[in-house]
Amino acid sequence: MAITGEKGNISIHTENIFPIIKKFLYSDHEIFLRELVSNAVDASQKIKRLSSLGEFNGELGDLKVTVTLDEAAKTITVSDQGIGMTAEEIKKYINQIAFSGATEFVEKYKDKGQDAQIIGNFGLGFYSAFMVAEKVEIITKSYQEGAEPARWVSEGTTEFEITTADKQERGTDIILHIAEDSKEFLDKFRIQSILNKYGKFLPVPIEFDGKVINETAPLWTKSPADLKDEDYLKFYKELYPMSEDPLFWIHLNVDYPFNLTGILYFPKVKNELHLHKDKIQLYSRQVFITDEVKDVVPEFLMLLHGVIDSPDIPLNVSRSFLQADANVKKINTHITKKVGDKLHELFKNDRKGFEDKFDHIGLFIKYGMITDDKFYDKAKDFCLLKNTEGQFFTFNEYREHVQANQTDKDDSVTFLYTNDPGKQDRYIQSAKKRVYDVLKLDGVLDSHFISALERKLEKTNLKRVDADTIDKLIDKGIINESVLSEDEKKSLKETFEATLNNKNLNIAVESLPVDELPVVITLPEFMRRMKEMSANGGMAMFGEMPVTYNVAINANHSLINRILKEQDETEKTRLIRQSYDLALLSQNMLSGAELTAFIHRTLDLTK
Ligand code: ADP
Ligand code: MG
Repeated sequence: MAITGEKGNISIHTENIFPIIKKFLYSDHEIFLRELVSNAVDASQKIKRLSSLGEFNGELGDLKVTVTLDEAAKTITVSDQGIGMTAEEIKKYINQIAFSGATEFVEKYKDKGQDAQIIGNFGLGFYSAFMVAEKVEIITKSYQEGAEPARWVSEGTTEFEITTADKQERGTDIILHIAEDSKEFLDKFRIQSILNKYGKFLPVPIEFDGKVINETAPLWTKSPADLKDEDYLKFYKELYPMSEDPLFWIHLNVDYPFNLTGILYFPKVKNELHLHKDKIQLYSRQVFITDEVKDVVPEFLMLLHGVIDSPDIPLNVSRSFLQADANVKKINTHITKKVGDKLHELFKNDRKGFEDKFDHIGLFIKYGMITDDKFYDKAKDFCLLKNTEGQFFTFNEYREHVQANQTDKDDSVTFLYTNDPGKQDRYIQSAKKRVYDVLKLDGVLDSHFISALERKLEKTNLKRVDADTIDKLIDKGIINESVLSEDEKKSLKETFEATLNNKNLNIAVESLPVDELPVVITLPEFMRRMKEMSANGGMAMFGEMPVTYNVAINANHSLINRILKEQDETEKTRLIRQSYDLALLSQNMLSGAELTAFIHRTLDLTK
């Protein structure tokens, strides 16, 4: 058969689409209530708007939305006194799926002053009613003068019926006849909890069971200038009743190039398990959407609490789409910037207060700096380093502070740190004798933070205070005179090697200060980091690599001199073992049989 050229339209059969909508429109069936209540709120906002534009001159009346449950009749009704619909409008807005009246309304009125505050956007929300109802009725009367009330009914097929109705008041009742398989929704507590979840902050009063369930002007919609600290704290308690007071907060208010309002709270971080429990809530025009804000909020700020409200975030799309969405990216960047600015401001205006909070907020700041280069650039001016004396410094201040005394022969400044002041005390004390400063970097993120600092700070090394003997830790190129001859050194090295008999030790005789230990054992910084990396699962190739410790024999120590001169082999061995064990002990490396032997040997001394 020959093909003749033809153009045409692909036809979609609504009968086939309907079951798909019913099943897949939303994975969560309870959403139907959010959609219908949102539509009722939209209808109420629209009439308000027409009234303010002078296009509706009648009484606005009591603009509230009422949800009614009739368990006996198996119905849920959502009623409003909003704009209503004529029969023509029902045909246009309801019968044509995916033709969103909300979009059309906003288009039409967008240039006439303030934003219309309309929730709907997709033209599919109404049909979510069929996820739970076997029959849906609309009884509605338009605000337009002389409008005839209309009734629409459909049983979830593509067939519908429109007749005139008996309705005096302006507005709409949506009556859902709940299907057998959705009986769970014919429950007062269930409805209550769904309304609470999605509607707690809707802008029009929502009444259920005789009570208004919402707060129509939540804190984030107000102007920061009108709010006091108490207001923010009270709102926080409302959102997270179980949480301690937050440290501080940021009130977001953006209208260009996208719309976003919200309040982000910095919580007190007690332990990490706590962190993700109370999440940031995402709203769109005061309708709760989700507390899965991944992709919308930068990763490192997911630890914050609070609310974000933006009509510019696409809501009914998949995660992967969200990631690629340009608005979401902008929002992400903007939130990062805002948080950075706020922290900087806090630092500038109240340095003392900032320092007091730093143990808590340091975690966010460091996390941000590690994961986000832009944030690093902002935070490098206010992120603080704390030393073992409890003093705080900015990066620049710290460099100034240590530069004179801690610059090595290659002109690099060395920042010394401890990640365990208790265990590394002896090394910290040695450093202090040289008037070196030691940073305390013992937090969960600090090993990553250290790497980030090294990558970013120029001509700066970070070394753990026990990474080397004191003079090599910051190598200033000064060679200490040794009291020993080369032959004596060689002989010492060989006897230690023979006695300790451990191929993972790299033994050398060094000229250390007289008051240092006779023997010092260290694990070089690079080797410790590789070991840590392989322990953390990364860099498997280093897993097999044997760890070699440096053992420095202090040529200037009197005990070493004694060992050198000792003629009795047993005594010599005893002294070598004893001095080596002391070195191990000072690094918390002495354990098991070796520790027991050490204890006995030491006790023997008292005999
Ligand atoms: P959307 O809200 O995204 O526009 P919906 O499917 O939820 O899509 O609703 C379709 C349209 O039906 C709305 O835009 C509105 O014009 C109309 N509509 C729905 N519910 C009501 C209501 N309670 N009062 C007036 N109009 C309504
Ligand atoms: Mg809608």
